[in-house]
Order: sequence, then C-alpha cells, then structure tokens
Amino acid sequence: MTTIAPVQTELTSSFDSWQLVFFSRLNRRFEHASAEEILRWAITDFGAGLSIGTSFGANGMVMIDMALRIDPDVDIFYIDTGYFFPETYDLIDRAQRHYQRTFRRITPTLSIEDHEEAHGRLYQIDPDRCCHLRKVEPLTQALRDSTAWVTALRRDQSKTRASTSVVRWNARHNVVKIAPLVHWDENEIWDYVDKHNVPYNALHDQSYPSIGCWPCTRAVAPGEDPRAGRWAGMSKTECGLHWANGGGI
Ligand code: SF4
Repeated sequence: MTTIAPVQTELTSSFDSWQLVFFSRLNRRFEHASAEEILRWAITDFGAGLSIGTSFGANGMVMIDMALRIDPDVDIFYIDTGYFFPETYDLIDRAQRHYQRTFRRITPTLSIEDHEEAHGRLYQIDPDRCCHLRKVEPLTQALRDSTAWVTALRRDQSKTRASTSVVRWNARHNVVKIAPLVHWDENEIWDYVDKHNVPYNALHDQSYPSIGCWPCTRAVAPGEDPRAGRWAGMSKTECGLHWANGGGI
C-alpha cells in the first residue's frame, strides 16, 4: 500500500524550492530599494494582513513614522513585557498623542507580580526563558491573524543581524517577515528623526543607544558597542524574536 509520507516530502520540498525562488527574487528586487519603497510595497500588497512590530527604539520610531505617512491605519503593535523603563512608557504616550493613534498592546500571560511569584527573577537566573515567556510567546499572539510582519532590524546593529534579508519567510509565525531598514545606519536614523520631528525615548540622550527591559539594559560608555548595554555580562545578545538555534529567523 502506498504511504502518504513520500507525497508530503515531495510537496514540502517543492514548496521549499518555490519559496527559495520567490524570496530570492524579491530580495534581488529590494536590495537597492529605498525603505519607503519597500514599506509601500508591503503595505499595499499585504493590506490588513500586515503588522508592524516595535519596541520603540529610534529605528522603530522611524518605521512607525514612515508607515503612518503611507497608511494612517496600518496595524502597529508592541509587546509590553511589563519591564519597560518609565521613559519608554512615556514615549508610548507621547507617540500615541503625536500620531493620534493607539498602538496595539500585547501582554504576556502573567503579570510581573505573578511571573516573579511563579519563577522568581527569571531575568537573572534564566533570561532566555524570561524572554521566551515575556516576548516570544506574546509575539505568537500578536501575529496570529497576520500574514506579514514588519520589523525595524538593521544589518549594522550587530554581527547576528549582519545577514538580515529584506524579505524572508518566518516559519515560526507563518508570516512573511520584512525589514525595510536593513540598509540604514545610525546616522540615517537620527537624520530622519530630526528632519521629521519623530518622538524618541529620552534615554537615547543618556547613553542608551539600544533600549530593552530595564533589568537587562544599561547605559554604554563612549566607544562601547551600541548593544553592549543589553544583557551586559551575559553571553546572551538577542531576545529570541529574531534569532533562534544559532541563526536569524
Ligand atoms: S529582556 Fe530581560 S526582563 Fe525583558 S523579557 Fe528578556 S530577560 Fe526578561
């Protein structure tokens, strides 16, 4: 009797090859395109299926500003880990007033109190698990109804992000993942912020180039790597939203 396994294998492999061709064509098309061009394509092609995720860093604020100029109703979400700095909550308020928009707030299953009662200070003893519970799992919820996910990743941010594609398939969440700012550098981000009067986190003016949760973020010294303040003193460099099993996702 013929088993179904070979048929599935054949389908999977043909889907994989189709995917490879499809995404490599798109990446060729967008490798030298502007961020606006990529974003406009994404918003037009994916429509209501498109979701922009942000943690309100300067890159994310640029992405929000650019996207809202194209479509004032585009879906923008953030994952409120409960460990944000007060300055980050202040930025969210200012940004929502500035853009006259509410951003979709996603929260982990447990409040900080319940999380710490159940697990202790997980950010000290097992930060990967903490990020999983407070970032990665909520992301699944955030993207449940989405077909495309836009991020503000840049290739120059770190070695782990150096090979970020403009467009790729994200199998974990079943979405097309799009990174319109991959080619940008820090100067271009701040030029855009100044030119368009984009609201930004007050901590950026206090030597925090990269801002995450307060227990895992410190200011950096002059000349230090911009991401040196994230999980300082640990081997961890990524939260797991964009990195898993030793590779970008
Ligand atoms: S960045 Fe730190 S506090 Fe935030 S979820 Fe990860 S380990 Fe927990």
